[in-house]
Amino acid sequence: MPEGKIMKALSGFYYVIDDHSIYQCRGRGKFRKDKITPLVGDYVVYQQENDHEGYILEIKSRKNELVRPPIANVDQAILVFSAKEPDFNTVLLDRFLVSIEAKNVHPIILITKYDLLSDEEKAELDQLLAHYKQIGYPVLLTSAKEQMGIDQFFGYLQDCTSVICGQSGVGKTTIINELSPHLNLKTGEISTHLGRGRHTTRHVELIPLGNGLIADTPGFSSLDFDDIEAGELNHCFPEISEKAQDCKFRGCLHVNEPKCAVKDALNHNEIPTFRYNHYVQFLEEIQNRKPRY
Ligand code: GDP
Ligand code: ZN
Repeated sequence: MPEGKIMKALSGFYYVIDDHSIYQCRGRGKFRKDKITPLVGDYVVYQQENDHEGYILEIKSRKNELVRPPIANVDQAILVFSAKEPDFNTVLLDRFLVSIEAKNVHPIILITKYDLLSDEEKAELDQLLAHYKQIGYPVLLTSAKEQMGIDQFFGYLQDCTSVICGQSGVGKTTIINELSPHLNLKTGEISTHLGRGRHTTRHVELIPLGNGLIADTPGFSSLDFDDIEAGELNHCFPEISEKAQDCKFRGCLHVNEPKCAVKDALNHNEIPTFRYNHYVQFLEEIQNRKPRY
């Protein structure tokens, strides 16, 4: 049986791409009894009825699954933050990073509107971002106005499936429009979707961009940590989880416990203080959240 990937879901139909053909499919497999709904991004086994229609028989196991947008098998999230207007904000960035790490998606930090900064402000921002590079996150500085970083951005989107995340007004639509020469669709179509932001319908589509795929709907508008347990939070801070292996107590939360390797590293400036403070802030949020039942 042929296999393909769902590119779009609409009104009960799933559009499966296989090589370069698209098949409009309905679900018919055992997964329906198991109450599993096919998602955009799913790899599926399907049966062809004719040269443009078919049935989905099986959904392959997923690497991950996002709620907003509802997409499976996402490789990376592009976190779009403006250097200014609105100001760069590390609490919000760390919130996004934690939500994304928890979903097993690879984050990339993309800074927009770099042109709005003075030299002094650039130096300040670069210094902050150096911490993130050190942790291992790719950081990309861009300005649509000065055509800076656009080719690198396109490069990052190749050979994988990406979602674009970020508050409204940070410049998501603008930077996507810069890529429109590479888009295999009518210019502006993706940005109309992106621009609709939070109040989008559940219509989601993966759009080919060179050799990559990009979700036409922005991701992660809710940044609560409902799915994260207190003891797992450190896994969403790579530089903290690396040290946590040497803590004396199993289940150490790295706040008040003795012989904590994370606190040690913090005292030796091996972990940035602001990142540790955000860890503690998010941990308290998780510990104080109301039980779900
Ligand atoms: P979105 O809500 O994230 O899609 O943000 P938009 O793309 O609509 O951009 C918000 C505002 O930022 C618009 O007024 C843009 O013109 C402006 N903007 C976007 N990119 C840049 C940039 O690189 N430099 C400057 N100076 N302004 C930008
Ligand atoms: Zn510890």
